[in-house]
Amino acid sequence: MKIGLVDVDGHNFPNLALMRLSAWHKAHGDCVEWADPMFGDDYDRIYKSKIFTFTPDDTFPWNCEVIKGGTGYDVRSRLPIEVEQSTAMDYSLYPQYPFSIQFFSRGCIRHCPFCLVHDKEGAIHPVEPLQLNPNGKHIEVLDNNFFANPEWKSAIDYLLATKQKVNLHGVDIRIMNEEQAYWLNKLRLHRNIHIAWDLPTLDLTGKLREVTRYIKPYKIMCYVLVGFNSTIDEDMYRIETLRSFGIKPYVMPYRDFENKRIPTQYEKDLAQYVNKPMIFKSCTFADFSPRKGFKCKKYLQ
Ligand code: SF4
Repeated sequence: MKIGLVDVDGHNFPNLALMRLSAWHKAHGDCVEWADPMFGDDYDRIYKSKIFTFTPDDTFPWNCEVIKGGTGYDVRSRLPIEVEQSTAMDYSLYPQYPFSIQFFSRGCIRHCPFCLVHDKEGAIHPVEPLQLNPNGKHIEVLDNNFFANPEWKSAIDYLLATKQKVNLHGVDIRIMNEEQAYWLNKLRLHRNIHIAWDLPTLDLTGKLREVTRYIKPYKIMCYVLVGFNSTIDEDMYRIETLRSFGIKPYVMPYRDFENKRIPTQYEKDLAQYVNKPMIFKSCTFADFSPRKGFKCKKYLQ
């Protein structure tokens, strides 16, 4: 068979599903390549993957079987079981990305009201690690909630054995204890440990104080969700608390699944202020002037 792949979101990050499909088909003797409309009649099957709802769809009239998947099409879409059961990955599709993608668990213990993970992947469960990129220099660990995995210690052992640097996403400090922090410190970090303070109704101040006793704050980056049931005061409280601990905040304006919500000007200005370290360090939000004649203190009055 001749298989064509379409990464509808563009090639801004390796598409896991397409890498797994490609590896599986190649192992079964099929020819796999990025689908080229110039040769649109040559393919026996096209796989289109779309992660984000806001990405415009590929509209080319492929003249063969077309299989669509990814959260951008349907939150319930799944890979075929035989592909899901394989750990093979075709990293040759994305030679421009010199890293591996890894998961040790899927799902989550929580049901955060703005998040689809539990609907899509269910309760937390360990999974078999995927093949590493033979040309990878570091590992992006994309677990949703790394330490909620009952087998998190095996995951740490695996990462230490690779001797590669690690970018750890999805660290839920609400459940982090001293032992976990100890092992986290043993990993060689590629950039930051990513945590989140999404809900203003939770005051994470005490937990942040505890965690920064074990982990140097400059190693931590914290996502701050704004525009989802939070006031400006609550946003500023979270951002300034993180600043006081020496943790880098990163503001994420809320986008709904259907992509109908447009971030407000305040949210865009706040993201611009916080997410540019030079600006964040050099002035207060009140003094930040994103446009001629406008200072953000207007938002705080
Ligand atoms: S902890 Fe993270 S992954 Fe889990 S439900 Fe909340 S936002 Fe989603």
